[in-house]
Amino acid sequence: MREVFNAAEETVRRYFSEVLIDPARATIQIGDERYVLMRASSLSVDFLMAIRHLYADLGDDEAFAIGRNFLFDIAHVIGIEDARVFHEKMNLTDPVERLATGPVHFAWSGWALVDISPESRPSPDADYFIKYDHPYSFEADSWIRAGQRSDQPVCFMNAGYSSGWCEQSFGVELTAVEISCRAAGDDACTFIMAPPQRIREYVAHYAPENHVTRQDAFRIPTFFERKRVEEEMKSARRKAEESDRMKSEFLTNISHEIRTPMNALIGMIELVLETPLAGSQREYLNTSLQSAESLMEIINQILDFSRIESGKMELAPRPFSLRGLIDEAMRPLEILAEEKGLKLSWKVADDVPDAVRGDSIRFRQVVVNLVGNALKFTENGGAAMEVRLERKASRDVWLHVVVKDTGIGIPVEKLESIFEAFTQVDMSTTRKHGGTGLGLSISSRLVDLMEGRIWAENNPLGGSTFHFTVRLELDAPSPHPELAGVPVVLVVDYAEHRTALERVLTKLQMDVVTAKSSHDALTLLMNRKTPRHRRHLLISDVKDNLILLESIRSRPEIRDTEAISLIARDDAGDVPRLEELGVKACLIKPIKQSELIAAIKQSLHSAKSPPIEPDRTRPGEQAVHVEPETAGGAQEKKAPGESGVRILLVEDGVTNQKFAVAMLHRWGHEVAIANNGLEALEMLDTNPDVYDLILMDVLMPVMDGLQATKEIRLREEGSNRRVPIVAITAQAMKEDRDRCLSAGMDDYLSKPIRRRDLQKIIAERVVK
Ligand code: ADP
Repeated sequence: MREVFNAAEETVRRYFSEVLIDPARATIQIGDERYVLMRASSLSVDFLMAIRHLYADLGDDEAFAIGRNFLFDIAHVIGIEDARVFHEKMNLTDPVERLATGPVHFAWSGWALVDISPESRPSPDADYFIKYDHPYSFEADSWIRAGQRSDQPVCFMNAGYSSGWCEQSFGVELTAVEISCRAAGDDACTFIMAPPQRIREYVAHYAPENHVTRQDAFRIPTFFERKRVEEEMKSARRKAEESDRMKSEFLTNISHEIRTPMNALIGMIELVLETPLAGSQREYLNTSLQSAESLMEIINQILDFSRIESGKMELAPRPFSLRGLIDEAMRPLEILAEEKGLKLSWKVADDVPDAVRGDSIRFRQVVVNLVGNALKFTENGGAAMEVRLERKASRDVWLHVVVKDTGIGIPVEKLESIFEAFTQVDMSTTRKHGGTGLGLSISSRLVDLMEGRIWAENNPLGGSTFHFTVRLELDAPSPHPELAGVPVVLVVDYAEHRTALERVLTKLQMDVVTAKSSHDALTLLMNRKTPRHRRHLLISDVKDNLILLESIRSRPEIRDTEAISLIARDDAGDVPRLEELGVKACLIKPIKQSELIAAIKQSLHSAKSPPIEPDRTRPGEQAVHVEPETAGGAQEKKAPGESGVRILLVEDGVTNQKFAVAMLHRWGHEVAIANNGLEALEMLDTNPDVYDLILMDVLMPVMDGLQATKEIRLREEGSNRRVPIVAITAQAMKEDRDRCLSAGMDDYLSKPIRRRDLQKIIAERVVK
């Protein structure tokens, strides 16, 4: 080696002979390379202290590690680059020659002076091993001069620079570790250099006793460790995102898989329930229906949960009557309580405002969850719910809902954890009460969204009390509170007028459904008929008004509907006949809002019949089907083709086909079936003008609903034809809906299809 080193010394001396220091031009130059001169301690003790200060929050060890990695990395890069340029300039090609110039170059540039120990073995392969001392390390020196003592080695730039140089010389990946350091009180600064995969064994062998016991001091610097960690994190994040996406996809699929057969199940049961049945058969079917519906509830809970998890839960605020909502929510629970022999009471404090704005559906969901739980976990006694006013400001109101029960109570240590997902007090397989353990965690998240809190406590005398608060906006109280909740069917030919009137009635908090034709109005009236024979108010503004009224009066079920007619001045001649038909008010257009309100009030308080009761039953509970064929006068006078809507059903599931066809036939519509998107396209190609409406499943083999819709819209271009397409899908997420609409569909029905929804869509979408 001596000869090699002598030659190296000669080469380096030659290189450094041309040093030019010219402060006037701020240059230190060697040959044609520009150098900079730096204060050594700024790269060691000062730098590390600054980093320690900067990352104080991470703790000393972590801060030190950040500084160490930084210094090692930068010096390693400099070492590699210096070697590369030097070797090129001095024309060195032999690896050993290149390596040997390293220590000499270090010495001349002030980086290091190394004493290589005899056991070293600088072979250009995985066996590479060098042990060396550095008696004058600038790094250790800077600590000693500063009067600082480190509890671990500090010569990182030395390790980085020298291993970088050697790595470049041999083309072997190398790292170096300082195993004893003068700054740490050792006699010498000693280093070991080897390939990263081998270095640990050398360290274990050569490190002095006192340091080996502190393995931590020898965290092996790996070149650009941070970069590697970042890359690992990035790939971990990618994986997590991928698995999130898959989870959401899985949930969507599962929901499809479960909702589709449930759709058929619930629908078929409902159909059978409409046929004559023996008492026990009816009872069995009702039980099946209940089970099916509770299964749907669980699926919905899981969907809610996945929506919350993926941050997709959004509130949909709308004005509502608080007392109306609470009554509506509590009635079904009252039945549940009665069945269990429990008492259930509820109360909205008098000072709580009634007209509020918020997400009524989500608010109700929380109430129902808490009261449902109270009943579920109570065997004797009952539950009481109360809505109290917490605070009121000019635009907002904060409510405090309290649900108290006399049930089994909750162990103190579980009072908080029950709000976490999948948590139940009794997790044993033999537990008495069913449930997913998701209800409270969904509630808690919803309450968060409503800017409130939720908590639970145990009552001194047994049972538990759940509390939650929410912020709702104050809505201008309706000046006509007696109209709130009154059921109205509004039928108007002109869409604009219809929307304007609907807005007026909704503001009055009336329970409005709209229809765009007399036929639809009739259907709606028949469907909204309840066992309690709740009567509706009909407000009509249609050309065939007389026929509509005659038709209503000819049907016993809806004969006593109160009616108000809005008529054009030219039709004023109809007024006597309308009055004969029992129309309470005939308002000549244009009408004033005050006139309309007065007429509504008058018709509700008319002496002849008892006032119409606001409906407090659950919507959709008592839907009764209507058969247009059996209808009276109004039907017969209609133009041919209006009695049945021609529907193309695109659906691959045979059960669903059967169910939908049975339902649509009952309503007097014509149905054609396509088993997939392609079949639908073929049918439309042969008969483009035949269909009034397309009901389109989304997931189908051969061609899915989205693709088929796009194709249909493409083919319609240039013609003035645009058949309404309604998606039928189990994918209940919002973005699925958006995907359907952007593919060119007009509306969306989620599975399982409820008859009411389907009827409504047909009524709304088919322009007659
Ligand atoms: P689930 O009722 O579906 O299991 P929840 O999230 O609604 O899920 O409730 C979680 C758990 O909290 C319940 O399983 C039960 O152990 C406990 N819990 C909730 N409400 C009550 C209550 N009113 N009384 C006693 N325990 C309750």
